[in-house]
Formats: sequence, C-alpha cells, structure tokens
Amino acid sequence: MKLYPLFADLSGRQVLVVGGGVVGERKVAGLLEAGARVTVGSPELTPLLRDWARQGRIIWQEGFFSDAWLDGAWLVVAATDDPKLHEHVRAHAEARQVFLNVVDDADRSSFHVPAVIDRSPLTIAISSGGHAPMLARLLRERLEVLVDPVVGSLATLLAEMRGRIRARLPDLTRRRRFYERLLSGPVQSLLRRGQHALAEASVERLLEASDLPRAGSVVLVGAGPGDAGLLTLRALRALNEADVILHDRLVSGAVLALARRDAERIEVAKQAGQHHATQEQIHALMLEHAAAGKRVVRLKGGDPFIFGRGGEEIAFLRDHGIAYEVVPGITAALACAAYAGIPLTHRDYAQSVRLITAHCRNSVDTLDWAALAQDRQTLAVYMGSSELATLQAQLLAHGRAASTPFALVENGSRPEQRVITGTLAELAAQAALHEVRSPALLILGEVAALAHSLAWFGRPPVAADAPPRLTLTEAA
Ligand code: SAH
Repeated sequence: MKLYPLFADLSGRQVLVVGGGVVGERKVAGLLEAGARVTVGSPELTPLLRDWARQGRIIWQEGFFSDAWLDGAWLVVAATDDPKLHEHVRAHAEARQVFLNVVDDADRSSFHVPAVIDRSPLTIAISSGGHAPMLARLLRERLEVLVDPVVGSLATLLAEMRGRIRARLPDLTRRRRFYERLLSGPVQSLLRRGQHALAEASVERLLEASDLPRAGSVVLVGAGPGDAGLLTLRALRALNEADVILHDRLVSGAVLALARRDAERIEVAKQAGQHHATQEQIHALMLEHAAAGKRVVRLKGGDPFIFGRGGEEIAFLRDHGIAYEVVPGITAALACAAYAGIPLTHRDYAQSVRLITAHCRNSVDTLDWAALAQDRQTLAVYMGSSELATLQAQLLAHGRAASTPFALVENGSRPEQRVITGTLAELAAQAALHEVRSPALLILGEVAALAHSLAWFGRPPVAADAPPRLTLTEAA
C-alpha cells in the first residue's frame, strides 16, 4: 500500500468521531486543536467529553450510528471497540466518499493519522501506513530529541519576513544560500534564548549582506566505485550544497540519488574510449556555471586524481581564477580489492602495489614492462578490455610467470559485481570467454588467488580452471 501524504486544513470543518470512550476522547482533542468542528456520535461519553459537549465545544449525537451522522462531514474517525460497527461505518463512509480512519485498523481506514513532531508551524509526520505504528512512534521519539524546539519560532519569524526575503532575493539559488547561511548562523541560538528582536536583526543583517554577489566555486568530488556507502562525509555535504553537478557516466545512480534534489545534473558521459564530451567541453561547463555564481560539483568515479584527469581540471580552474576544492574518493583499485577479498599487499606475497592504466594504445606503449613483470608485487590495472591481450603478452615476454594469478573485478562494489579468476597464461581468453565489460579492474599478482578463500561480497568468484588456491592458513 502506497500512501499519499498530505496535511489537511480542518479549521471550521466538520468531522465526525464515532465513539465516546477514552480513545475517542484522544482523537477529539487532536481534532479540536486543529480547529475542527467535532461531532461525537455515541450512546455514552467520557466525563471530559460530556463537559465539552455542555460547553458547546463539541456536538454530541446521542445514540447508535446512523448514516445521517455523516451529513456534512469532511472526515470520519471510528474509535469504538466494535469491529462490526466499524465495518458498518466503513461501508457508509465509502459510499459517500468521505475519508475514514478506523483506530488501529489499517485495512478499514482510507486515511491514517501519523505520529507527529509538532514544531508549529513546522510539522513532521511519520506514518507506517498502520503496519508498524510502534516503529513510527519510536522514530518520532528520536526525532523529538533531534529537532530543535526552536525551529518552530524560526519558521514563524521567517514567515513574517518571507515577502521581504523574496523581494530582496528573487533568484532561487541565492535565496537557498541565504537560508543555508541563516541556519548556520546565530539566529537559532538567539531564539532559544528568547531574544526575538536580536534574532530578527540578525536575519535582517544577513539579508543585507546577501546582496553581494557570491563567487561560484567548483568542488572536485570522488564518487567512489558505486556503493554509495563508500562516499566520504565531505563528499555528501558537497553533493547536498551543489547547485550544479557535472558527473561522469561511471558515477552510480545510488550516489546521484544522495545529491540535492533540485541541483541541476549534467552527465558529461566521459568514459574511457568514448569521449562524448571532450575535456574542453567539461572545462567550459565548469567555467560557465562557476562564473554564474553557482556551486559546482564535478563528480568523478573513484578518486579524481587517479586516472581521472582531476589535475588538468583544477589547473584550468586555477588559470581562470575559480576557487576549487578536492574531495578524494575510494579509487577502483582499493574498492575492487576490498570487495573481492583481495588484500593488495600481503606480508608473504606482495610488498608493493602499482596502479596502472591500459586504457589505450598510448598508455600501454609507455609502460615500463620490465618493472611491471617483477614478481612479489600487485598490479591494479584500470583497463580497457581490448588491451588485455597486449598486457598478457608483454608481461609474459618480460618474465612474469604464466602461473601468476589474476582476478578481474567487473562492477566492483555494485550489486552486479562479478569476479573472474585465473592465471596470466589465460587472461585474455578468460576475459573474452566471460565477456567482461567495462567498468572492470584487473588485479594481477599472487594475492589475486586469495579471492577464493576471502571473498565476502556478492557472488563467489568464478575460477577458470582450479587456479592455485592460497589460503590464509598456508600464508601464515
Ligand atoms: N578515477 C577512477 C578511475 C577512472 S578510469 C578511480 O579512481 O577509480 C575508469 C576505470 O576505472 C574503468 O575502466 C575501470 O577499470 C575502473 N573502475 C572504475 N570503477 C570501477 C568499478 N566499480 N569496478 C571495476 N572497475 C572500475
């Protein structure tokens, strides 16, 4: 059941409560607080409800349910202990298209009453659709603690000033920035101390100052390999503050889902080998938006400084006088190794690790093969799958043992992760056989065999044909 949340304005509107016991009394109290005109239909009333009826705060329909009670009602609440009566009320409400809440009966209800954190005029409502009311209540208790009581007064103050704020800052982006600065400023603590006039003055001051145009900036953010849990807190903050996000295709949907909702997202779709947007176009986009005073996040897969051309991008920004920051990310080599259970260095098998790229002929041609072919080191190869045959041939030609284990990690850290293992002799053939697709990372070296004993994430690794199996016990 998917519910459509809404906040109803009940002031002056008629609401029927069927049931005059303690539960009904509670419901009536809430409805009166919202300004509803409440009729209680019941043969009996609690003493308090009787008082209210005498004082004219509610109307009492004395007796047993009749369809006529529904006349003029916008909403109905059924709060008796009689399921048969509830069913009866449900049928009548349904026929008249009046929304009904049956207390503690999700199936018979056409609206639900949420657990509420009241910071009027700010209201936070939580509903489990009647499925787990206790959970909703517990969450409510936690939020009660988290949400400063003063946000209510703040909302009231801002409501008073809203017209002026809008007039002064017609631009949505600048207005949002003003509110962000407001929230991190002294206004809340002034309100907490009851210094309303000072609080208002501080909003006023901020509003004056906000006229000064703000310089745009660019944050180069490493989005990691895909699992959004691998983002840094700083990356998350930058994503939440961004006006514009320029992201590579490699960046996962899970990460983008965490970004500020109304940020403009532009996919610059740069993947190895497929330069949909050229580097120059990316530079031009960063410049255009930053010059317009926007906060730009340049979001790149993995880490921006590992085969990510991050260096070129900040050099360009520096040359154009645009402020920048860099937020590192978990690079594919670290993530793929971790999520495949392959320690990149290991006391017994590998004393060093090299990150290399074999994305195109250019990068392959300039590699120092003799150095790469040495044993007791791990190679993490950011690869274009087309270059695997060259890589295999060169390493073998320069003396790396044909039996050296490899692991190809495709879609590392993502739900669809695949790990293919084998030995250097069969590297290109296995990649072709298993149709390994981008993004994939090659880990080559003795440690790659550990994937079989240490794997913990996703599907177990696929072995070409019984590769040498190292285990930690053997390693010890
Ligand atoms: N800056 C990025 C690398 C960009 S180059 C980083 O630090 O990770 C792109 C290459 O990274 C891909 O071709 C692939 O080899 C590797 N890669 C990126 N994400 C990956 C992932 N989730 N799984 C496997 N390889 C990945």
